[in-house]
Amino acid sequence: MKVLVINCGSSSLKYQIIEMDNKEVLCKGLVERIGIEGSQLTHKVPGKDNYVIKEEMKDHQKAVELVMSAITDPEHGVIKSVDEIDAIGHRVVHGGQKFAKSVLIDEEVKDALRRCTDLAPLHNPANILGIEACEKAMPGKPNCGTFDTAFGMGMEPKAYLYALPIEYYNDYEVRRYGFHGASHDYVSHRAIELGGLDPEKAKVIVCHLGNGASISASIGGKCVDTSMGLTPLEGLIMGTRSGNVDPGIMQYICNKEGLDINGILNVLNKKSGVLGMSGGISSDFRDIEKAAEEGNQDCVNALEAFRYRVAKYIGAYVAAMNGVDCICFTAGVGENDIATRKLICDEYLGYLGVKIDDERNNVRGKETLISTDDSKVKVYLLPTDEELKIAMDAVKILSELKK
Ligand code: AMP
Repeated sequence: MKVLVINCGSSSLKYQIIEMDNKEVLCKGLVERIGIEGSQLTHKVPGKDNYVIKEEMKDHQKAVELVMSAITDPEHGVIKSVDEIDAIGHRVVHGGQKFAKSVLIDEEVKDALRRCTDLAPLHNPANILGIEACEKAMPGKPNCGTFDTAFGMGMEPKAYLYALPIEYYNDYEVRRYGFHGASHDYVSHRAIELGGLDPEKAKVIVCHLGNGASISASIGGKCVDTSMGLTPLEGLIMGTRSGNVDPGIMQYICNKEGLDINGILNVLNKKSGVLGMSGGISSDFRDIEKAAEEGNQDCVNALEAFRYRVAKYIGAYVAAMNGVDCICFTAGVGENDIATRKLICDEYLGYLGVKIDDERNNVRGKETLISTDDSKVKVYLLPTDEELKIAMDAVKILSELKK
């Protein structure tokens, strides 16, 4: 069974074909600059040279058509015809309160997504364009949607309500949603599987530390809390995003710098995080670490603040769940940054009985138990795989349809 996974941005489209019988990625690719001069598609098949198509793509429809021609290309393709694809799985950023799990996409689902556009004005319109382009290009194929926000739907009101006038929730659905849902869902379930933990009761914390960063607490795979909120700005310190700040800062800086609300949000989203704290050196943690090693004190502070915030959330989530069985590190920093994993655990989590095995931790991007055998809490490095999660959900939806 083959699933085509599509992740559409406003001017980009990422895709993969996954053979679900053995979970092998047959090909993956990226379309860039859709609707902008200089569009191109880069198609990758493991073990082969990249195949690049440079052609104007005025819209997502054209992009999907070129994806179809790349995947069926006699020389570079991996299937003879799109008939071989059993389902298409789409990543959808915001499902509002309507979607707590992945669904088969029909007209009603698309209408619901359009109604959520206010909540994700940059992402949802692009996701809908991708879905409609696939519907047109491959009529009759089942299209399934996996929502970044679905995992957060597990939260109870005490975790998802802001202390704001309740009308804002009732009238405008202002609440905490959480993002990176496919990643938190995938990694927390994988931890339960690998660790042989109780599938109903296991208390798992997932630290998704990448350019965007978020952390979740779940019991038996059901979300108890997660650090992102109404938007992906809340929570941890990220590459360019501030995470939590005192909202009073906004008015103060607006007055000082002559900014309006859009201006300050632009600063919080794009000029803050480790980029802002380092005085503009980089949003990439590798550059920040290099500068810190060379003695840049702003970079030292940025890294310490980053780890401190992760540790504070872990502490809060241990309290929220009244315990923890397993802590997982994933995404770019979580999977590759040996020192950051070690320092978070050694500096702050000793009271939980967390012990890191330095030899086991000396690894990148590979599923590994990095805690010692006598650690009271299991600690894992678990590479995330959002595409596989999207494809697995599509397979599940199809099998339920057949029942
Ligand atoms: P992601 O958003 O998950 O792709 O993660 C991107 C982030 O991972 C970037 O800030 C990278 O600097 C960071 N990253 C990747 N490899 C390493 C590494 N070896 N050490 C530290 N950070 C890394």
